[in-house]
Parts: sequence; structure tokens; C-alpha cells
Amino acid sequence: MELIKRLTDCEEIFWINRGYVSCGAAGQPNGEQIVDIDEAEARLLRFAPFIERVFPEVEGGIIESPLTEIKNFGNTIGYPFRGRLFLKQDSHLPISGSVKARGGIYEVLKLAETLAVKEGLLKRDPVTGEHESYAMLAEPRMREFFSNYKVAVGSTGNLGLSIGIISAAIGFKVTVHMSADARQWKKDMLRDKGVTVVEYPDDYEAAVAQGRREAEADPACHFVDDENSKDLFAGYSVAGKRMAKQLRDMGITVDGKHRLYVYLPCGVGGAPGGVTYGIKEYFGDNAYCFFAEPTHAPCMALGLITGRLNEISVGDIGIDGKTEADGLAVGRPSRLVAKAMQTRLTGCFTVDDGKLYPYLTALNDAEGIFIEPSACAGFEGLKHVSGYEGSEFPAPDENSVHIFWATGGSMVPEKEKLSFMNR
Ligand SMILES: *Cc1c(COP(=O)(O)O)cnc(C)c1O
Repeated sequence: MELIKRLTDCEEIFWINRGYVSCGAAGQPNGEQIVDIDEAEARLLRFAPFIERVFPEVEGGIIESPLTEIKNFGNTIGYPFRGRLFLKQDSHLPISGSVKARGGIYEVLKLAETLAVKEGLLKRDPVTGEHESYAMLAEPRMREFFSNYKVAVGSTGNLGLSIGIISAAIGFKVTVHMSADARQWKKDMLRDKGVTVVEYPDDYEAAVAQGRREAEADPACHFVDDENSKDLFAGYSVAGKRMAKQLRDMGITVDGKHRLYVYLPCGVGGAPGGVTYGIKEYFGDNAYCFFAEPTHAPCMALGLITGRLNEISVGDIGIDGKTEADGLAVGRPSRLVAKAMQTRLTGCFTVDDGKLYPYLTALNDAEGIFIEPSACAGFEGLKHVSGYEGSEFPAPDENSVHIFWATGGSMVPEKEKLSFMNR
């Protein structure tokens, strides 16, 4: 197959998913519910008083990011396109500065709630049935209770950062298993916060496997499973609901005549998959979601194109998985997500690493917004979508809105930012 040959040669591809299933103006294809978005959002609301107490910089205790129009950046794009351009700045989510502040933090909060409720430490009012304020979870006696439990995760960097920071803030003992390509500053920052960081010479898959083995041997340890977790997925999916409100508040309509095109950088798939699920719930067929991957680590594209999902890895077709986009350096996709995307994703494309730094600099120069190389992978989607002449999805027009999901960057140290821009 022509596309597989191109993937094997690390050439860029643009693939349209013929397995897409219509879900109408809102909702999931075939009515298939994977997670309950409202339940996840309600949980995050319950935790707002706790977040506000422990992280006073988080306004109202709600971890959310701006949706910003990037007109000036649009002027730097050297080809014709139609519609307005927006950046969803998950790069600037509070606490951990990446999209992982959605799923990762959600999963650890849910664990803390489950443990506290099970031990009868979170009281409910017998009359109203309401929980006492979750701010009590920050009290020293609760930290002591949580210190009896462990959290472990395998990560290329940003998930480890999110899980490490929130677990340490709650009081859990936390270990982050990091792959070789993780940046040094992320390891340093975690160790600074009292997180145990274990480093692996191998790739991400090996770090995850080792983390999983160690956690399984210990009943007091919760393993955050980036390859299978529905809790992570649920945390990410809330983004769709919140963004629907942001668009409404900005007076932007999404319907059959005002289409939404969304470009999401993909690693193992959890973040872009959960967000896509959330977007489908509110915008249905009027939203067209595309995943972006590096040409050297196109695991989701490979899994979807071959239909083998997580049963094939980029190593199986001779690709090394090495990329400057460290958040996307993943050789095998999540099965949960790959399956969910078979009916929900409009398409995938791959991007040469060499294009990431020019985008990074152009965005910084035009808008004064810094995002990390991984987060720049989505920009190339506009070119593919604008140049597409087939009939599988409608071409963007003047009423269209394009959203680039900026997945990380605000916590990158100044020195590192400068070295990225000099590339
Ligand atoms: C994790 C991450 C992604 C992709 O998320 P997955 O859940 O691994 O697909 C994209 N960009 C950045 C910066 C990330 O940290």
C-alpha cells in the first residue's frame, strides 16, 4: 500500500479515514458512550476548592486555558486558506503547562476522592447529601493519610510532570518512570518537588512496562496507564464541553454552515483522543478532527491505516521513533483510543521535524506565544486541509474556524526556549 510505503520512508502523509461514522449535529457515533463527560466535569468542580487552596494561582480552582485568535500568525502563512485561526492554549494550562494537566490531574484527583470516600474521611451532609468542601483534603491529617498510598506512571515527560506535581501536592508517594528522550529540566523539576524519578535508556514503551510491573507488585500503588486509562480519557474529554462554552461566549457559531477544523498533536493518543471524543459530544459532524504525528513516530496513523491498532508498532516497519517532538515520541498507540478514533477521526497527517522550529518561531514572533516543538505539529494540518480536493470532507470556507491544539510549552525554561528558537 502506497501510504505504508511512505510511512516506512518517513515521508509526510495525509490520510483520510474512510471508517468515519456520522454522529449528527452532536453526540457519539452509534451512540457509543466511552466516558461520562458531565460526571468528570462535576468531579473537577468538587475539587475546585482544593485546587484553589493548594495552587492559589489557579483562578477559581478551575484548570482551563484560553482560546485565542491568531490573526497575525495567519498573515505569516505562505499559502491561501479560508476561515479564522485559533490557538487552544493548553500550553498555558496552570499547574503543569501542558494538555496533561487535564487527564493526568483528573485521574489523580479521582484516586484521592475514591480513597477518602472509602475511608469515610469526606463527610456528606445527611440532609442535603452534599459533600463537605474538598478544601479539607489539603489538611495535614489528610496528607498523612494519602502518604500511605503510591502513584506510579511511565512518561516521555509531560504526563510525568502533571502526575508528579499533583500527586506530591496531595501527599501521595509518587514515582515517575521516564524514557531516555525526556528533557533534563523536567526530571530536575520533579526531583525538586520530592518525586522519585527513574530513568530508562530505552524508549517510552519500556519505561511504561517497567512502571506497570513495579506497581502491579504493590497493592497500595496506583499505576496511571497512559495506554489504557479511561480516567485520563475522561479528564481530557471535558475540554470539549468547556470549549463549546468558550466559543459560545465569543459569539462563534458552529453548525452545518460554520464548520470547525481541529488539529491535535498525537503521541499515544490519550490527550487528542479524549479531546476529540469531547468535541464530538458537542459539535458532532460539524467538527473535523485531525491528528498530527512526527514522520519518525506515526504510531496512530500506522495503527489506523493498517487496522491493526496497537498490534503494530513503528519499529515493525523499521522506523526508529526518534523525534525532536519529545511529547510525541511513541511507537505504539493506545488501543482504547485507536479503537475510539476508528469512527470519530476525520484523518491523520505526519510532519517532518524540520518544520516544527519554523512554526515555533513564527508563532512566537507573530503572537508572542511560546509553545514547545511537539505542540507545533498541528499547524501543518491547515495546509493539508486547505489543499484537499476530494469529497470525503467539505473544504473550509470563510465561515470556518480552525483550532490548533497547543499541547505544551509554558513551563519550558527560558534557556531552553532560546535554544529552540535558534534552531
Ligand atoms: C502528551 C503530549 C501530546 C500527546 O498526547 P498523547 O496523549 O500522548 O497522545 C502532545 N503534545 C505534548 C506537548 C504532549 O506533552
